[in-house]
Amino acid sequence: MKNAYILVGPPGAGKGTQAELLDEELDIKLIQPGVFLRKEAEKDTDVGVLIRKFLAHGLIVPNQIVDKKVFQVLKKVKKDVLFDGYPRTIPQAEKLYEFLTEKKVKINFVMISLQDSLIMERINGRRSCSCGETFHIKYNPPKKKGVCDKCDKKLFIRSDSKKNIVKKRIELYKKETAPVIKFFKKKKRVNFVKINGAKPIEKVHQDILVIFNDNGKD
Ligand SMILES: [Zn+2]
Repeated sequence: MKNAYILVGPPGAGKGTQAELLDEELDIKLIQPGVFLRKEAEKDTDVGVLIRKFLAHGLIVPNQIVDKKVFQVLKKVKKDVLFDGYPRTIPQAEKLYEFLTEKKVKINFVMISLQDSLIMERINGRRSCSCGETFHIKYNPPKKKGVCDKCDKKLFIRSDSKKNIVKKRIELYKKETAPVIKFFKKKKRVNFVKINGAKPIEKVHQDILVIFNDNGKD
């Protein structure tokens, strides 16, 4: 591992999509603790049962469970690593920074930024169908208003796309991520890059790829 990439971005900025695109295109190891937790919760392992208990009570899964898994992977990995949804707290950031610094891994902190009004527009305009298709009233409208192109069923707004919920998600993102961003921004040996998330998905992808290509040169 020569490089580690930490990807952050508000809801609606397409962070998950960007992580998947990079994972398809590059020879990297993608670390997504959120996906790991969802998968693990479906299993009947000790950890799986424990995670289910926390989720059933509406509690946040303790960091130790996530950290243990992340470092298990990190200790073995040979490829460059891309983090999506990690680290989320200062103790996690400190531990990760220390580990990567000791291994002389270059840390690239990639922040996708998007202003609040655009986050609202992007998420609030989403329309879903029970068949799994998704639309956006402005960016990807269905042929017939409010009706699915694929199956003709009526489209609906997912509960986490409703205005007051989106506002809460933005607030939570800021509260949770701001200290982590500040932590990495202060560190001299971190390559801190800000990407304009208001551009189309493909353009944002190209902007992120530049960072990977620059690192490949040395
Ligand atoms: Zn449909």
